[in-house]
Amino acid sequence: MTRRRRIYEGKAKVLFEGPEPGTLVQYFKDDASAFNNQKKGVITGKGVLNNRISEYLMSRLSEIGVPTHFVRRLNMREQLVREVEIIPIELVVRNVAAGSLSQRFGIPEGTPLPRSIIEYYYKSDELHDPMVSEEHITAFGWAAPQDLDDMVALSLRVNDYLSGLFLGIGLKLVDFKLEFGRLWENEEMRIVLADEISPDNCRLWDVKTNEKLDKDRFRQDLGRVEEAYQEVARRLGILPEGGPSDVKGPKTIQ
Ligand code: UDP
Repeated sequence: MTRRRRIYEGKAKVLFEGPEPGTLVQYFKDDASAFNNQKKGVITGKGVLNNRISEYLMSRLSEIGVPTHFVRRLNMREQLVREVEIIPIELVVRNVAAGSLSQRFGIPEGTPLPRSIIEYYYKSDELHDPMVSEEHITAFGWAAPQDLDDMVALSLRVNDYLSGLFLGIGLKLVDFKLEFGRLWENEEMRIVLADEISPDNCRLWDVKTNEKLDKDRFRQDLGRVEEAYQEVARRLGILPEGGPSDVKGPKTIQ
């Protein structure tokens, strides 16, 4: 195996230098963390599944014209991505009350929101990712007003597309977190979707039973964590049941 230079190690992924300039290799670990790293664990097989799930979702989004950093999956745990300058803002889109929104405002989990709500968090482990407003983001120069407009417009398109995609396989997209980066091409800068989209950063509930099929199973010690990630991949049609040739694409649920 060739040894690549490690650029950055996060909680769930490692970034290595890519094979060509301007590329990185994103390696998906099985490590899981929650509550600002206070809870740590391993979800066996998570890295392999998230690599596949994120590949699938980023590819579909790219097809509808959402620019992403994703280039191609390289192997079970690695994907090739474009090197971008990560904007230090986590953008959360919510359709249904859950998690910190339910706690902050005392809204019972599962309450549909009157409309989709976007929130911003400043990416800082030391500060525990504080919630911030547009004013903080532009005043402190984390993103320009135009960057923020692009991020919001892209997030709403991602929400519309993914809500429909998941509904088609019997899953409710409750909320999710996105990260964006700046990509320069011939002096021009574009805002592109970065990081990953997987059950690590989406809340996905079964439409009929409201069963949680995401990282909340780990956060809340609900058990059957590995199975939840597998079920999402299976419904997306990307969990090979009889080997790699058995990948068919999503099975629509009526
Ligand atoms: N989320 C994430 N990373 C974070 C915080 C939140 O991916 O550092 C995701 C989380 O999985 C959920 C959504 O963003 O899908 C909203 O999370 P929330 O603010 O409710 O926080 P939590 O309850 O996860 O602490």
